[in-house]
Amino acid sequence: MRALEERIRREGLILSDTVLKVDSFLNHQVDTALALEIGQEFKRIFAGKPITKVLTIEASGIQFAMATGIALDVPFIYAKKKKAVTLAEQVYTAPVHSFTRQETYQVSISQKYLGPDDNVLIVDDFLATGAALVGLVNIVRESGATLSGVGCVIEKGFQEGRGLLEEMGVEVHSLARITKMSPGEIHFAEADSPAAIKEKV
Ligand code: 5GP
Repeated sequence: MRALEERIRREGLILSDTVLKVDSFLNHQVDTALALEIGQEFKRIFAGKPITKVLTIEASGIQFAMATGIALDVPFIYAKKKKAVTLAEQVYTAPVHSFTRQETYQVSISQKYLGPDDNVLIVDDFLATGAALVGLVNIVRESGATLSGVGCVIEKGFQEGRGLLEEMGVEVHSLARITKMSPGEIHFAEADSPAAIKEKV
């Protein structure tokens, strides 16, 4: 997605070879028009799939799941990272290890909102190690719902997330795929090319 790549080049802060900060427009302050465009783009990419629910994980996937839910005219669900006392009913849970925080936490979703009749599109802001998304895929499988695929706003293609998801048989689409970065320099893969094959500078 060209507009997204240009925005990353203009405003993204590359803190190291692995960490990109985009909190001026994606995941702290949010450009709402861009978020809605992202929702439309996921609708276009997954057209033809009978999606009934969009699923994400709190907090920074929520704006994109909502935008995608609006585009598809379906509800979105966000998995909670801490089990709230109000979540008293039966829940699906999965452990997720956060490499940025160096801790493992349980994500949970009420069983009321996901079941065998659902067709799910998972959406998140970043695909990095894939830990968060693998946890969500396992929850969808446990619920008996069908998984249409995973849509990520930014993929760091040099980390192992895509490989893990594809090994699980999951279709993955990302709107901006970074093949390589370092402070002052960023490379994106050509749209729809196999991972890390054709780069543009
Ligand atoms: P995972 O390693 O499970 O694929 O990524 C987990 C979460 O860490 C992502 O959803 C995202 O919120 C956050 N994350 C991973 N890499 C980056 C990064 O380079 N920049 C920012 N801002 N967040 C990241």
